[in-house]
Order: sequence, then C-alpha cells, then structure tokens
Amino acid sequence: MTGSNPPCMFEMRPSPGCGYGLYATQDIPQGTLLLRETPVIQIKTEDVEPLDEVDVALAKVLPTLSPTDRDAFHALSRAGRDSDEALDIFNSNAFEVQVDGMDRLALFLTGSRFNHSCAPNVNRDWDPDEQCMSFYAICDVKQGEELCTFYARPLETYAERQRYLTTLGFVCHCSRCDPGEEEGERERLRAESDARVLEYQSMEDALEGHKETDADRARQSVSDMERLVTEEFGPYGVANLFLRGVYAMGREVGLCPCVWDKEYTRHYTERELEMIVICQGDGALAQSYRRFLGS
Ligand SMILES: [Zn+2]
Repeated sequence: MTGSNPPCMFEMRPSPGCGYGLYATQDIPQGTLLLRETPVIQIKTEDVEPLDEVDVALAKVLPTLSPTDRDAFHALSRAGRDSDEALDIFNSNAFEVQVDGMDRLALFLTGSRFNHSCAPNVNRDWDPDEQCMSFYAICDVKQGEELCTFYARPLETYAERQRYLTTLGFVCHCSRCDPGEEEGERERLRAESDARVLEYQSMEDALEGHKETDADRARQSVSDMERLVTEEFGPYGVANLFLRGVYAMGREVGLCPCVWDKEYTRHYTERELEMIVICQGDGALAQSYRRFLGS
C-alpha cells in the first residue's frame, strides 16, 4: 500500500545534544501516520563484507544523487568521528531494512531526522514490496514534544543500549537513560528498569520451551510480560509498541497444541490488532487479522 503522504505535523528544530530533531507542531493522536518516505540511499549490507566497506558502496551511490538530495544528505547530523564524513553521516542516520529477505541499510532525508529515544513515541514500519517506510505516532503527542524513534532495541538494559549507541557515535540522554533529578535516584531508577528488562528477556527466552510443554507457565509468562512492559513503558506513555509484541506471544501461546484455547487466542488477537492499527496503521496486516477473527 503506497497512499499519499500525510500533511506535515512536525518541524525541524535544534535538539539539545542531538543536533536537530523533529518536533510536533500540533497535538497528534496515537495511530497517526506522520510520514511515508522512500529511502534516498539503500546499501545491500549482505553484499558488503566486511561492513567497513559500506564507504566504498556509499562513494559509488553519492554521485548519482541529485544536487538537492546530495546537499540534504550532507546537512544530516553526524554523530561519529571517523575521518570519512559521508560514512559518519550514513552510519548515524541509516535504518536497517529487509528486501527479499536480505538486509539493507536505508537512509531517509526526512525520516532519518527522527532522533533516538529508549522510550520512543514513533514506530517505523517498512514495506519491502513498495520499499518505503511509514512512521506512526504510537501515543498521543503534545504540540512541541520531540518525535523520536529508536536505533537501539528499547527492551535491553541501560548498558546494552548505550553500548550499541556508542557504535553509532552517541550517548543517549533520554528520559529512561537519565531518569530522576539526582545521581543516587538516577542509579536506583536505572537498576529497577534493568531488573524489569532482564526479567522480561528471561521470560521471553523461557516461553519457547513452556509453549510446548507447560500451558500454565506459558500463560503466566504472557501476563507477567504484559505487567513488566506496562510498568517499564507505561510511565512514559509509550507501552503500546511493546504490548503489541506481548499480545503476539499471547496469540501464539493460545494456538500451541498444549494450550489450544480459542477464547484465549481470540482475546490476544483482538488486543494485538488494536496495537497494530496504532503502531503500523490500518492496512493489509490489520485486514488479515480481521479476517482471522471473522473466521
Ligand atoms: Zn536512552
């Protein structure tokens, strides 16, 4: 589904510590499509070994851009400190995508300006057939708030997130990484957040086994993961994106031979559908869920 681009609901402004960012110019309800954009550069990373040779591929692509696009590329923020300016810009701004099951890095002149947050209010949804990215507000956003997506997986610990973000050349100071007012409180809140994330990760790992052999523990894990995600992301108002994953696991648990519970499956499928509409729009995927529920 291509569709037309929505009216612009954000503007670019300086973002403290992050160069520039995109800020809402109006109140935006959850589920709103913010932007649909085709990448200006795509590099097939599976053809590029070692990955350091992205610079070689980039050097071939840049001269093929129009002068306007090339200027816009060089105006993007640069977090890294490599000597190669173009490579720094690309690494700081490209998103991983897949086409025909193959990994690529894709750079967007507008979408790449969404900064990272570990409590993101913007989801990305890549359409491999149309090769375009849609960006959705996953919660209600107030006028003046920064719109942020994520580069590091939010469901990792503080240290894991920062380790990955360091490879992109920056340190995250989002509200989850720097919570609270004072150092002591910050350490305590980070430790509590990490404990929730680690508990979630171990439940997610164990669920694969429980789904096959232990229906009660599988069901318990799904409700515990829902609680953990709500506790971790609810205070930032961005739990929807992560609940979508938990509800998908609930649906899978309901369909497992050792559980096989139609009502349970239906309950989680309905809730997953609500989250899909918010985080990925009411498109072909949502329709396929409605067909499943109607059958
Ligand atoms: Zn962060």
